[in-house]
Amino acid sequence: MGHEGAVAQNGGMPESVDVVVVGSVNRDLVIEVDALPAPGETVRGGPAVRLGGGKGANQAVAVARLGRSVALVGAVGTDGDSEALRAELAAEAGDVGRLAAVDGPPGHAVVLVDRRAENCIVVSPGANARVGVAAVEAAGALRTAAAVVVAQLEIPAAAVVAAARLARGTFVLNPAPAPSSAAELPQELWSLVDVLVPNRGELARLCGVAEASLAGAELARSAAGLPCERVVVTLGAEGALVRDGEQVELIPAPAVRAADTTGAGDTFCGALAVGLAEGRTLTEAARFAVRAAAVSVTRTGARTAMPTRAQLAAGSA
Ligand code: ADP
Repeated sequence: MGHEGAVAQNGGMPESVDVVVVGSVNRDLVIEVDALPAPGETVRGGPAVRLGGGKGANQAVAVARLGRSVALVGAVGTDGDSEALRAELAAEAGDVGRLAAVDGPPGHAVVLVDRRAENCIVVSPGANARVGVAAVEAAGALRTAAAVVVAQLEIPAAAVVAAARLARGTFVLNPAPAPSSAAELPQELWSLVDVLVPNRGELARLCGVAEASLAGAELARSAAGLPCERVVVTLGAEGALVRDGEQVELIPAPAVRAADTTGAGDTFCGALAVGLAEGRTLTEAARFAVRAAAVSVTRTGARTAMPTRAQLAAGSA
């Protein structure tokens, strides 16, 4: 780790960003239904709401809202919707010049939500499945200058490994969606991860234990058992557990009235990256992320709920 404050060169243009996010971009199609359909059943839903999504894109937006410069490395398709996604992201997250355009549609997520806020989601990876090592390497100069590089697992593992290998700053991995076990992630990736940020369910899968068992001492033991010295486990309304080498600390979440927890994890990861890029310790960065994520759950939507720096400073959480 260590940020040299270097200014990278790309096409003769000096540039430097605080955070590089390597990850997915999706078009989410959200439909409210009274009850989720059973197999073979057709149900009538409310209006189809089209939103920008994808863990990579959402985390990049979270970083930008908190006032740090960010570049997103990934891929969209070549259709009109892909252009719309790119334009939305350019307006919200800044640098999308490293988003490749690959033949075909962008990633899609079809989300059905019932009255009890239970959901059912189908993800079609689309262009996200075609994020290759070359695309990640092409953004190499940018990454070298970035204090923090963040990736998730909605793009091919080879691209994530390439990002980890080339990162000069702190490499943060949000292992979502969760692999079926720790062994499913390439060994090399484990050796390159500086900070791992799973939620409780993802930690359970990585450790091969039941999610319900992950509380108290067992939670700390599981986090300590991962092949990574620095781990931040997000725990919903309970906050986050930070393991930094020998030190383990629970950071409680402020009590808030939760309206919609969609995207809380993405807000958390983006804010953690911002904290680290600003030179905070892991525990301080996690404290900042807990505050930002608490604000996000008080509002509806994933990206729309993400706080700005001014809103956080105003003490809305
Ligand atoms: P994910 O969104 O990936 O399932 P979590 O549910 O753990 O992840 O939420 C991420 C973070 O969002 C938590 O660590 C916490 O800081 C914050 N958060 C989530 N739910 C609440 C809540 N009800 N009240 C306050 N903070 C919350």
